[in-house]
Amino acid sequence: MSTDETYEPVIGLEVHVHLLTRSKLFCGCANSFGAEPNNNLCPICAAMPGVLPVFNREVLEIAVRTGLAAHCEIALRSVFARKSYFYPDLPKGYQISQYEAPLCVGGYIDLPINGKTAKRVRLVRIHIEEDAGKNIHAADGSLVDLNRSGVPLLEVVGEPDIRSAEEAGAYLRELRDILCYIGASDGKMEEGSFRCDANVSVRRRGEEHFGVRTEIKNLNSFRNVEKAIAYETRRQIEKTSSGQRVLQETLLWDPDKEATRPMRSKEFANDYRYFPEPDLPPLIVEPELIERVKRAMPELPAERRARYIDQFALSPYEAEVLTSDKELSECFESVLKSGAPDLSSPPPSAKLAANFLITEALRQVRAANRPINDVFNATDIRGLLSLVEGKKISLNAAKTVLPELVLGQSSRGNPHLAQQPGGARFDAEQVVRRFGQVSDEAAIAAACDRVISAEPAKVAEYRAGRNQMFGFFVGLVMKAMGGKANPQVINEVLRKKLAAD
Ligand code: ADP
Ligand code: MG
Ligand code: ZN
Repeated sequence: MSTDETYEPVIGLEVHVHLLTRSKLFCGCANSFGAEPNNNLCPICAAMPGVLPVFNREVLEIAVRTGLAAHCEIALRSVFARKSYFYPDLPKGYQISQYEAPLCVGGYIDLPINGKTAKRVRLVRIHIEEDAGKNIHAADGSLVDLNRSGVPLLEVVGEPDIRSAEEAGAYLRELRDILCYIGASDGKMEEGSFRCDANVSVRRRGEEHFGVRTEIKNLNSFRNVEKAIAYETRRQIEKTSSGQRVLQETLLWDPDKEATRPMRSKEFANDYRYFPEPDLPPLIVEPELIERVKRAMPELPAERRARYIDQFALSPYEAEVLTSDKELSECFESVLKSGAPDLSSPPPSAKLAANFLITEALRQVRAANRPINDVFNATDIRGLLSLVEGKKISLNAAKTVLPELVLGQSSRGNPHLAQQPGGARFDAEQVVRRFGQVSDEAAIAAACDRVISAEPAKVAEYRAGRNQMFGFFVGLVMKAMGGKANPQVINEVLRKKLAAD
């Protein structure tokens, strides 16, 4: 029996999420990414002596919304606590967090696979805390940037319910999507606004007790989380199966070496000497607030996926890809809804729009590395797909035109794009002039008739069972139409005509 059949990993994730508030958690400084170092700073978040924190109410509503979206119980009374540790980017010498009495308790995240809930990962808690600043290590010394000091965070602590690196990735993606849908976070792992620590242990399958765990830090992309967990699982299984012990320690993921390495040996939580924060009153949540937030809850990713399958008959895969990005799914719905279709073509079907977006459009979005709203105008895509739906141009022609609809690029030299402020715009008439095809059934039928009567011997062969000759007739009809006929219509008409004798 292989070690993978004997052992299984047990994984619990702790996720830190920057909240999209205007100001910081306990002061009025701006909560914005990318400012000049030490520009978002005041005596409170710089920890001058004698200052007092004031709780930012904006945080409460977002935190409650997050808790409700994750099915948590919202505590009507929660308590801030001081978590003491020393680090240059933490000038107070402690971080204000929540410890014994967090705002959100319990809850769960359901992971989708093929449109079904494949797995439920329970949550321990979600609590509010402030972020620390940032140490910047340069060649000639270290610098401290306190812009991030006091930025509001939620820490989402998961139960150790995850059993593989892939499940960990799916959990993080679903959690990020939920946070983006409810406007709690921008979910940008690369910018540190969505950070994850992974706790990993292994045990014999069938065993109830958990093994000794390590905690991996510095995971700044979904890929790295999955790689680090897979690496750490393997390392621990090798140790355990050869009779060695796994040490409880904190590890750092080294993305270049693709390996974990020890950071510091970790003592236990009482090291932090948690005690209730004396400068802040308990956080009281009015039940009316909970009700109001519940009523205003936007559609969540799982609900949107189910709706797409139900309302638009999309496949679970299509629904999953479209909803995995809030902007992409909004673009999809705009393509179905927006503006009057051009040249009296019908609006695109949901299936056509879904497939075109998740293949062609997404390729352009990834290449441009910008949000889809920056790359495309939904009305342009709708216009283009309307022409396909109305058989005025082929799908291939639409694929050819799409890259030229990317916004913000010059439309000079593109004959079928109208020059407009803000970039290229779809111009249906020009596209049809260039790529237009004849879908007129009567004209195609006449061409089919001509071809059939000109080739009696070949037609007889075909009717005697040589089905592979079909393409030969399609070619002749296409030639007769000057290459401008819709191949799908030729296929349909020709098949009928050749079948009849
Ligand atoms: P700490 O306060 O040291 O971070 P917690 O008990 O709060 O410890 O657990 C933190 C995280 O570790 C949780 O996400 C939990 O699911 C996970 N965890 C706890 N025990 C294990 C284990 N044996 N194996 C894997 N993950 C674990
Ligand atoms: Mg921890
Ligand atoms: Zn401040």
